[in-house]
Amino acid sequence: MGLNLRLTKRCMLNSLAKKTKTCSKCGEVKTLDDFKEQKGCKDGCRPECRDCTKKQQKEYYEANKVELMRKQKIYTQKNANKISERSKKWRAKNRDKCIKKHKDYYEKNKVEILAAQKVFYEDNKELFAKRTKKYRDNNVEKLKLTSKEYRTKNKDLIAAKKHEDYLKNPEKVKLKWQAWHKSNPEKSKAINTTKAARRRCQKLQATPAWADEKAIAEIYLKAQEITKITGVRYSVDHIIPLQGELVSGLHVENNLEIISLSENCQKNNKFNPLKHQIA
Ligand SMILES: [Zn+2]
Repeated sequence: MGLNLRLTKRCMLNSLAKKTKTCSKCGEVKTLDDFKEQKGCKDGCRPECRDCTKKQQKEYYEANKVELMRKQKIYTQKNANKISERSKKWRAKNRDKCIKKHKDYYEKNKVEILAAQKVFYEDNKELFAKRTKKYRDNNVEKLKLTSKEYRTKNKDLIAAKKHEDYLKNPEKVKLKWQAWHKSNPEKSKAINTTKAARRRCQKLQATPAWADEKAIAEIYLKAQEITKITGVRYSVDHIIPLQGELVSGLHVENNLEIISLSENCQKNNKFNPLKHQIA
């Protein structure tokens, strides 16, 4: 409080009298505001101006850098707890300020930070993998639950993303799935069985009494034939999907078409009315 009062008083006196002083270093005439406060001096200010003080301090630091850093290191080591406590207190008191400072710094140096992080990650890849594995092993149930919740909540989003990935690089996705099926034979078998059963059930439900089963079988045979001749896998597709999003088609001969497997995969239960102008 004493200092504040003194400074305020000094400011008032300065502005009233516009007191000036000549710097003992650079010899420039400056107002008293340009001089740092110093007890014991006649006018309460240092003989050299703020700029010169700064310069002097910088020069001193540069000249004694090694020694100063050594001392600083010893002090830090000796008072680690004290320093840590002090900075913890300061951070708690100035939380918003700290966050803003970090944020600003990050925005300003984003590219460098991300690059450094990438290098650090690459250098410590194994360590990261180990840590992740340890965390996963220790939190199996928790992660299962979180993952399930996420999948339920973002079902459509995940499906759209998967489809997008597939369209971008069908070969990569295919290889990934092949690898997965190979390394998870039990699960793979279960999935295939479930899929086939669902498909059979759908067909059964969607097959009306008037469906021409002979004509249907012929279409399937023809698809096999085309595959044999061209070497490209062709399959029979339901023009209007059996369980489409908007409409559901029937398992009848005139709702079937032969298309390549990749085209069928891309179609993914979607009916394109523009392609098949069905009235
Ligand atoms: Zn000066």
